[in-house]
Amino acid sequence: MKFLSTSGNPEKVTFREAVLRGLAPDKGLYYPETIPELPSRFFNEMPQMSLPEIGFEVLSPFTNEDLESKILSDIINETLNFPIPLVELAPSTYTLELFHGPTFAFKDVGARFLARCLGYFANQGEQITVLVATSGDTGSAVGHGFLNVSGVKVKILYPSGKVSKLQEQQLTTLGHNIEAFEVSGTFDDCQRLVKEAFTDRELNEHLTLTSANSINIARWLPQSIYYFWAVARLNMEPPVISVPSGNYGNIAGGLLAKAMGLPIKKFIAASNANDVFPQYLASGQFNPRDSVKTLSNAMDVGNPSNYPRILEIYDKLFEEITGDIYGISCPDEQTISTIRKIKQQYNYLPDPHGAVGYYGLEKYREQYGSQEPGIFLETAHPAKFHEVLENVAGTRVNIPEALAAALGKPKHSIPLQPDLGEFKKHLLR
Ligand SMILES: *Cc1c(COP(=O)(O)O)cnc(C)c1O
Repeated sequence: MKFLSTSGNPEKVTFREAVLRGLAPDKGLYYPETIPELPSRFFNEMPQMSLPEIGFEVLSPFTNEDLESKILSDIINETLNFPIPLVELAPSTYTLELFHGPTFAFKDVGARFLARCLGYFANQGEQITVLVATSGDTGSAVGHGFLNVSGVKVKILYPSGKVSKLQEQQLTTLGHNIEAFEVSGTFDDCQRLVKEAFTDRELNEHLTLTSANSINIARWLPQSIYYFWAVARLNMEPPVISVPSGNYGNIAGGLLAKAMGLPIKKFIAASNANDVFPQYLASGQFNPRDSVKTLSNAMDVGNPSNYPRILEIYDKLFEEITGDIYGISCPDEQTISTIRKIKQQYNYLPDPHGAVGYYGLEKYREQYGSQEPGIFLETAHPAKFHEVLENVAGTRVNIPEALAAALGKPKHSIPLQPDLGEFKKHLLR
């Protein structure tokens, strides 16, 4: 399998090259030149398979040129060493808890897979500098994934004052080969700085840069695995799956799974007030704009970077995209009332992102009278947002020990203006 850039450069690269580069030289995102269809044997056996076994079958068509079976299965076993339970809240209503990894958000799946792939490829000798912009959860997942990996330095950029206290502590207290930059700007500024750094000639002469954002193919591909896993657990008619979305890497993983043959009735792209993608589904116009701050801050993205990959999956056919995806935007007031509602109705405490997902599922069901099983993804542990939940739902949230530990450590961050010149000085010093 080779990979192409979404910006149209005809150069085909291997998985290894795509992972090491992160972004393509023409600033496009890598995507697979063809989407493999998995055999019916696999779909029949899926309910009996373990999560890593499913992961192996799903990823090997993409990686088999660069990762031998044994290496891939080792990497996947280390990546998916935590459970992903499908929890039944009511008949036909489920949540897929993606937050049981070490940093308590779904980003652990992609970040751990990427870290292990890069670590394996870096063994071939080079010092690698990983740049990562975070709206909250990516930074700690990536930092944790790379902590003390030799040959790799990680630079995390996060928007000052726009991540939760716990998230900030998680990403500024790692130390060692992990450095955090506190950018006076938005997530989009952080993402722009990373993109500019990649295409800066001077930086590329001195450093081997790569990206750990969902623009990296090794973060994106493994995010399709748990869709197979969820459908296998459900073992019912094709479900509707609601994905709380910001940069659209998670849902793009699900769309890829469907294109590989996984039966899914409909995807719900559930955004907060940053609703560029739902607007696109409604109008056909993709108009990125500045992000606004919301309660579900990990989705405060005004220019969802995986949009070009979604276009590629559907050969840019708008009718096919709108046929598979229902878009919805959930304002903060609705996020709050939904948290309360889920708590009351199911005695289950969602985090604000999961609540946005549930809201999307409910709106879809109302609009279409849908009876299919519905799954909403729980993308973060509620304790990561305990202040919000305590304020709006009046519930005490138990904070897992590993999270509480981060709160007690001293914060180390480097203040940064959203300016490439200043960032370069730090990188080259
Ligand atoms: C990153 C994140 C999202 C959004 O995922 P995308 O792949 O960027 O759409 C949703 N919820 C949480 C908790 C996140 O950390």
